[in-house]
Amino acid sequence: MPELPEVETVRRHLQVSLPTRRIAEVELMREDLRYPIPVDAVHALVGATFTAVRRRAKYLLCDLTVAGQPDRVMLVHLGMSGRLFIDPHAPTEWRKHEHWRMRLTPDLWLRYVDPRRFGALDVLEKSEEVTHPLLGTLGPEPLDAAFTAQHLMAVCKGRQQALKIVLMDQKHVVGIGNIYASESLWRARVHPLRPAQTLKLREAKALVAASRAVLQEAIVAGGSTLKDFVGGDEAPGYFQQRLDVYGRGDAPCHACGGLVEHVVLGGRATYFCGVCQV
Ligand SMILES: [Zn+2]
Repeated sequence: MPELPEVETVRRHLQVSLPTRRIAEVELMREDLRYPIPVDAVHALVGATFTAVRRRAKYLLCDLTVAGQPDRVMLVHLGMSGRLFIDPHAPTEWRKHEHWRMRLTPDLWLRYVDPRRFGALDVLEKSEEVTHPLLGTLGPEPLDAAFTAQHLMAVCKGRQQALKIVLMDQKHVVGIGNIYASESLWRARVHPLRPAQTLKLREAKALVAASRAVLQEAIVAGGSTLKDFVGGDEAPGYFQQRLDVYGRGDAPCHACGGLVEHVVLGGRATYFCGVCQV
């Protein structure tokens, strides 16, 4: 599943190509993904010009300007398996699992493929962004200054829930998905199953620093594999960065040589070293 670093990598790619291009044609193959697609509003984007591509949590926010109308935002979520990519060549046929595409001028095609259809496509006015149901309740970005040890301590205070669950709750901090939660906790040497309220300030500082470092490294790694996962037909290169614990159950811990353990927590695979993480 695309996580924050992969979405950020896609954003950077789109930010190079989309701004100043105008939407000349919209084609929809279906009227819903995870949620209904506002078909009329999407078609009404014909004639609009991209000005920027931003990201909030795992949502791609494409800013569009339309002459004589309020600025629009096209929201795209990649869900479990979505790929949003630029195609310099006119498509001759629909790809398998391709659900929508746009012809832009000067000639470029923006295409969306999503086998599992958990993605989203929405259109809103820019002024609606702060109150949008998918965007309005989100916590701070992990790479922004607002995500501090003090913020994390405040969020954990009085909570019995496991730390990893709290770390993955989008109300508290956005975009630390399942893989990067396991990785960040290992790097901070904090056990994922500990009740959140037992977190100490020293550990919160380590966890904030580890989360940022892990995500930033993954963004750099994502950048280097960008071509593989936004271009061709192969599976995305989402997991190519080096992982210390995620997916390494029963393999030796990179720090102590003990065996990495694996449990299911809140329905999600969770990896940790029971020696290093306390
Ligand atoms: Zn270890």
